[in-house]
Amino acid sequence: MAKVSMVSLGCPKNQVDAEMMLYSLKEAGFELSVAEAEADVIIINTCGFIEDAKKEAIENILEASKYKTEGKCKALIVTGCLAERYKDDVTEEIPEVDVCVGIGSNKDIAEIVKKAIKGEFKNTYGEKDALDLNMPRILGGVPYSAYLKIGDGCDNCCTYCAIPKIRGRMRSRSIEDCVDEAKKLAKNGVKELIVVAQDTTAYGTDLYGEPKLCELLSELCKIKELHWIRTLYTYPERITDRFLELLAKEEKLVKYLDIPIQHSNGDILRRMNRKGNEDTLRALIEKIRNTVPGITIRTTLITGFPGETEKQFEELHRFVKDIKFDRLGCFAYSAEDGTVAGEMPDQIEDQIKIDRMEHIMETQMTVSEENNKKKKDTVCEVLIEGYDDYIKCYFGRATWDAPEIDGKVFFLTPKPLKIGDFVNVKIFDTIEYDLMGEVV
Ligand code: SF4
Repeated sequence: MAKVSMVSLGCPKNQVDAEMMLYSLKEAGFELSVAEAEADVIIINTCGFIEDAKKEAIENILEASKYKTEGKCKALIVTGCLAERYKDDVTEEIPEVDVCVGIGSNKDIAEIVKKAIKGEFKNTYGEKDALDLNMPRILGGVPYSAYLKIGDGCDNCCTYCAIPKIRGRMRSRSIEDCVDEAKKLAKNGVKELIVVAQDTTAYGTDLYGEPKLCELLSELCKIKELHWIRTLYTYPERITDRFLELLAKEEKLVKYLDIPIQHSNGDILRRMNRKGNEDTLRALIEKIRNTVPGITIRTTLITGFPGETEKQFEELHRFVKDIKFDRLGCFAYSAEDGTVAGEMPDQIEDQIKIDRMEHIMETQMTVSEENNKKKKDTVCEVLIEGYDDYIKCYFGRATWDAPEIDGKVFFLTPKPLKIGDFVNVKIFDTIEYDLMGEVV
């Protein structure tokens, strides 16, 4: 049977889509090949929400296209957000691409590949809502940690964001469907479940008429095999007292909150079509830290939003210094076609945007070092992820480390350990984003 290779880019939600397509391809009898050079068909599951992501997608597409001459590749297929956002422009502007598939046609990927192998190249775009969120999947990552995608799309319509146009309106899976999948994942060895959507705190609003994240998390906590349940992509205005009390009460709910705020200045937030200001954000963060002792707060910021003055940027920089987020990512604003902010006057020069982003990240490196120093001589629970042959020690993640975006804990141990197990580690040294310790 033909071999298919899949490269998946972008966020965990896109990764789950790729895992669903891999399952349907395997069910259809295709051999899944990791090596693009061996593959009869290569699928690039793209990200496409900002300039950098689009560049990375095109680089991967052009890289894969060389196997059409140097390898066995008969068809190069592009799926995911770049395909959904630009449709036929992808095949028109990148002739190396044979077929472009919108997210609403992910479920038809096996049929599309069968035709493509015979040279029948037809771009296919199903309705966004046709993206089946309950399809079975083949986990692409590690067996002990998995993402649970509880919905797709977003209704928040931040003015700088192309995602609502790409992924459509918010669509939640039912609590039953999410719990069923989580039970299957747990039975198959998953111990860390990472709950994702564009806005997890809006979960259920479309289906039940009100947010149901607390109800879902309470049900997930009942799954005995699960050890850690981590929630990403929460939305500041939807952080409720009830959610924070649940986070504090339930042992399985990791004391970690990913809460992108994007900026601290009220005028900028208003022009981003987001609510709040510096005072409301300070009050929210104080409440989070008081309600959930020891919580790790991750946030994301944007610098150089149209019209951002030097004074507003200095306010944001001071805010970052004061709040001392545990984890912080910062993007230089990317003017995206089809977004409200992309049409705004007062677009800022790229170099200024980048300088501001780098200034924030320099300060955050110092904040992270200070925060890490406080962890010295403390004991933390670590999920064992591997052994580093170069520095001859194991490594893993603590509750304050989400996969792929945060730091690591490196640790010594007198005896061999099993990947995917948990151990207690006493920290004796710290470096910027990582920690060093020994098993106790
Ligand atoms: S909440 Fe996130 S995904 Fe939704 S519009 Fe805003 S930035 Fe985009």
